[in-house]
Amino acid sequence: MIRYALGLGSNVGDRLAHLRFAVECLGEVGGVSAVSSLYESAPVGGPVQGPFLNAVVVVESDLEPLVFLDRLQEIETEAGRVKGTRWGPRTLDLDIVSSDGDPVSEETLEIPHPRAAEREFVLRPLVEVWPEARVAPDKRASDALGEIGNQGVDRLVRVWGGDDQPWLGRLFVGLQFAWFLGIALAMASEGTLPEASVDVTRIVGGMVAVIGAALALISSRRLGPALTALPEPRSDAVLIETGPYALARHPIYGGVTLLILGAAMIADSLTGVFLSLGLLPFFYLKSEYEERTLRIRYPEYRGYRERVTRRLIPFLI
Ligand code: ADP
Ligand code: MG
Repeated sequence: MIRYALGLGSNVGDRLAHLRFAVECLGEVGGVSAVSSLYESAPVGGPVQGPFLNAVVVVESDLEPLVFLDRLQEIETEAGRVKGTRWGPRTLDLDIVSSDGDPVSEETLEIPHPRAAEREFVLRPLVEVWPEARVAPDKRASDALGEIGNQGVDRLVRVWGGDDQPWLGRLFVGLQFAWFLGIALAMASEGTLPEASVDVTRIVGGMVAVIGAALALISSRRLGPALTALPEPRSDAVLIETGPYALARHPIYGGVTLLILGAAMIADSLTGVFLSLGLLPFFYLKSEYEERTLRIRYPEYRGYRERVTRRLIPFLI
């Protein structure tokens, strides 16, 4: 029995589906004993192409390395891979990164993989599932990872194999509405701002509320049928990058926060003001979670995120 670490990558079509397909097929070739988190990485070398989804899977198999490689190449072909440019775009790439058997140095196969020790998109997932794996004659994966720099690899999600319920998304939505309710109650029960400042506060609050309402309304109209309170995108939705979305990535959250902040100022509620400011870190976390699913779905999200640096409120944050 040989223990193999396999590097999985895809940057064409439904990338997540290709990686899931690979894990499914590998289950038929041997025993899958570990699956890493899902990562997104910028392409290394080759022509201009979209970002990759990557993962590492540990498989125990009775197959000898060369036979095993044949099986991997069959799986690549079944997934629709057409051999083209070296290091070019691919629907599915399956590489043997490392094994606990003897090193292999054949024309068609080298184990450890000759570039494994330099690549963050191999080492980070590998260290998660098998930190002692050999990635060079006398180097373990965890040591190699400590020696390389940042190469633009981001961990997206831990579990990506099946369609388990995204309960965290539901939790965010539940918290969001509980928070709104708390702010409404605070506003209904208080008048705590110092007397003299009330008029100024009301005027400023009115302006903030109008700006927030406009931002939220224009953004939700721009989003159209893609709008949902849930953090996962609808299955038929396309990525919107125009209008307010060219200025901030989650302008509805920013708009709603400003609207509620303005309302709390008008209602003269200090607790309401604090609670509505607390929405900012909350929406930061919710959008962080949301962007992971968006990045899995839309390869172009990586570039969008680099172009549009404001997250919640145009020109501000
Ligand atoms: P990439 O290096 O980008 O993964 P390919 O997937 O097109 O490129 O692989 C090119 C060739 O690399 C394969 O045909 C295979 O024979 C050879 N090869 C050498 N070592 C390995 C390895 N450890 N795992 C997978 N393929 C390997
Ligand atoms: Mg390959």
